[in-house]
Amino acid sequence: MAEQKRDYYEVLGVDRNADEATIKKAYRVLAKKYHPDANPGDKEAEKKFKEASEAYAVLSDAEKRKQYDQFGHAAFDGSAGGGAGGFDFSGMDMGDIFGDIFGDFFGGGSRSRRANNGPMKGANIRTSIRITFEEAVFGCEKEIELVLKDECKTCHGSGAKPGTSKETCPKCGGKGKVVYSQQSLFGMVQNVQSCPDCNGTGQIIKEKCPDCRGTGYIASKKKIQVSIPAGIDDGQSVRIREKGEPGVNGGPRGDLLVEVVVSRHPIFQRQDMNIYSTAPISFAQAALGGEVRINTVDGDVLYEVKPGTQTDTKIRLKGKGVPSLRNKAVRGDQYVTLVVQVPTGLNEAAKEALRAFDEQTGQTLKKQGTAEAKPKKKGFKDKIKEAFDEM
Ligand SMILES: [Zn+2]
Ligand SMILES: [Zn+2]
Repeated sequence: MAEQKRDYYEVLGVDRNADEATIKKAYRVLAKKYHPDANPGDKEAEKKFKEASEAYAVLSDAEKRKQYDQFGHAAFDGSAGGGAGGFDFSGMDMGDIFGDIFGDFFGGGSRSRRANNGPMKGANIRTSIRITFEEAVFGCEKEIELVLKDECKTCHGSGAKPGTSKETCPKCGGKGKVVYSQQSLFGMVQNVQSCPDCNGTGQIIKEKCPDCRGTGYIASKKKIQVSIPAGIDDGQSVRIREKGEPGVNGGPRGDLLVEVVVSRHPIFQRQDMNIYSTAPISFAQAALGGEVRINTVDGDVLYEVKPGTQTDTKIRLKGKGVPSLRNKAVRGDQYVTLVVQVPTGLNEAAKEALRAFDEQTGQTLKKQGTAEAKPKKKGFKDKIKEAFDEM
């Protein structure tokens, strides 16, 4: 006994008078969510995907929608006209639906569901390259080595031995497609499949070219120049047009996408267009103020710290950050955290000076201090009491 079928409008979650665009949009959302590619092995998702596809196949077709509106599922369940049991959406050209719906998010050209004999762009190739922090900031020129396919010169890409030529595939008669016809309620429905004998090319090679073994391509190592723009960030890619796989039937080559991996820098960290770093300053510099040397990607700069600078003070160096990818002239800033260094390994004279300093500043603190700022010394009993009070 067949399961109770859900209403097609309910399946897509649209109103009964929804227009074409709304139906398409609703299906798009469901198809994306339940697509088998996104849910490998998930039977429930597959069922939902099929259910939505079936609903869409009917509701997106004005004629079928009319029939459905009039007769409901009975219009397609076969009991009316006999023959096909249930709506056979495999008989429709789903390739057209998917080409239409998925074209933009599955990368279009790489899917070969459509005509096989027209010119097609070759596939894109992805690779990665490691660069330094500074190279990412200022841009650089790099050379990479890559194995690329080129048309075989011996057979000019045909794959057939010179002097011989490809022959028309007897199975599909050169069409590259095999058509199965099926009787259904709507008349003959044609199910088109790629020809298995010639892989959809419509031609078969009797004698293979010895140089490329019938593939039509020769692979060789190529050196490719990569211009990396200033401001590129870790994980971003540079696209080099037409350095990917060769096109098919005279189509253009695919592209080469070079992903940039930026090495860590010992001093600088980056967030978008800004650079972050820390800089040590001496205790005396912090107290008295003065010039400190700060590393930037443009080299060291001198910065005037104010007297009485505390540790962890953050300063901004305008325009010492990363250039914008779009406009080199626009740069981010560098944020520097000043860290006051506590001196170690002092000699006797320095220690003596510090003691004198401490005494001096101790006096100053006493003079400046108020009763609130200087809590009275607590006895042992007070501390115990405190500890218990906190519990
Ligand atoms: Zn060849
Ligand atoms: Zn064939």
